[in-house]
Amino acid sequence: MHSSAVPSIPISPVLSLAAFRRGSGARVRSVLDVGQLRYVTSGRIAIGLALREMGVGPGDKVLVPAWHSPSMIPPVLWRGAQPVFYRLRADTSVDLDDIAARLDPATKVLVVTHYFGFPQAGMSTIRAFCDARGIGLLEDCAHCLIGEQQGRPVGAWGDYAIASSMKFLPIYEGGLLVSQRYDLRSVELRSAGWAFETKIALASLEKSFAHGRMGAARAALWLPMKARDAAWRLLKARRPAGTPGLSPDSSDSSFDFDPRWLDKRSSWFARVMTRRASLTRIAESRRANYVRIEAALRGQPGGHPLHGALPAGACPWAFPFVADDAERLCERLRAAGVPVVGFGRKLWPGMDGGACAVSEDLSRRVLGFPCHQELREQELSWMIDRIGEALAP
Ligand SMILES: *Cc1c(COP(=O)(O)O)cnc(C)c1O
Repeated sequence: MHSSAVPSIPISPVLSLAAFRRGSGARVRSVLDVGQLRYVTSGRIAIGLALREMGVGPGDKVLVPAWHSPSMIPPVLWRGAQPVFYRLRADTSVDLDDIAARLDPATKVLVVTHYFGFPQAGMSTIRAFCDARGIGLLEDCAHCLIGEQQGRPVGAWGDYAIASSMKFLPIYEGGLLVSQRYDLRSVELRSAGWAFETKIALASLEKSFAHGRMGAARAALWLPMKARDAAWRLLKARRPAGTPGLSPDSSDSSFDFDPRWLDKRSSWFARVMTRRASLTRIAESRRANYVRIEAALRGQPGGHPLHGALPAGACPWAFPFVADDAERLCERLRAAGVPVVGFGRKLWPGMDGGACAVSEDLSRRVLGFPCHQELREQELSWMIDRIGEALAP
């Protein structure tokens, strides 16, 4: 066994001064380049708003991939619409034949997800498919804040697109609603209040401290952190009646959807981070980490990467790995102290079990290894060693 202490590896990016460093290469394109933009508090709230803008209402149907985050469904139900699950192929590309077979006059919107930061290859075909049938296209860029495909930034093929900022940036809440085609002025947002603003800023600092990221700034911030608990109690007590909890549902990793967040603007902290952080550096760092992990896993028993090579212009959310025995791998990694990114491990309970065998398989077998920009070199190499041990028979 190794004798070094188990590092506390953050599962998602935490705040550090490096967040503001520039990248070295050409500026990357992202969802922020698509067109009009609204900063909301989560990806699921952005889905709800997009469906509302597309006129989805009671009796309508929304096509959703059979491999999904359960958080994608409550916004559909909030509109009074019915989710209809469609099949994927083993490489996570959408099965347009299956979609065509499920269409009926009540179908209003097709939701397409770019899994783990790998853009769907056939977006122009999917766009043409939707145009020919008069249905709306919602691009789910929750895993794909950065990237381009077929000459457009991700999110620009859809009528609307959404992103989940927390998955890429060191922030505690945040979602984006964008549209290249439509005016977003009808999406009116207002501040969620100073208690919310304060909580979000403090929560981000706290997470950073927990992983030892702030270095010299620590001493200066020690007192405010000590005062945090007292501040919390005060903030909660002062919160006006009828306002939602202090943080949106996505921040505490539940799948709930609280419509009271639909008209709330994302925090000042999250908006500044989203605009100021260098997406070029984030993409370069995530791509480099991805390539490192891929090279280390080559030839390993116990499973295989979900995707082959990283396409140009793609920025991974996490490293998706198809495990032969995900249960066992997960247990071994957790025991070793390696954080595992879970996606689509739980599916919407109302989905017909036989809807898509491929999705069932992906749901059972895919685990994500962190590859985010705030992983330090020694953390990455430590993690790669532990993954290698966990995969050994
Ligand atoms: C996380 C996620 C969402 C929802 O984003 P939140 O910010 O957590 O609300 C939507 N779609 C997919 C594919 C996701 O993984």
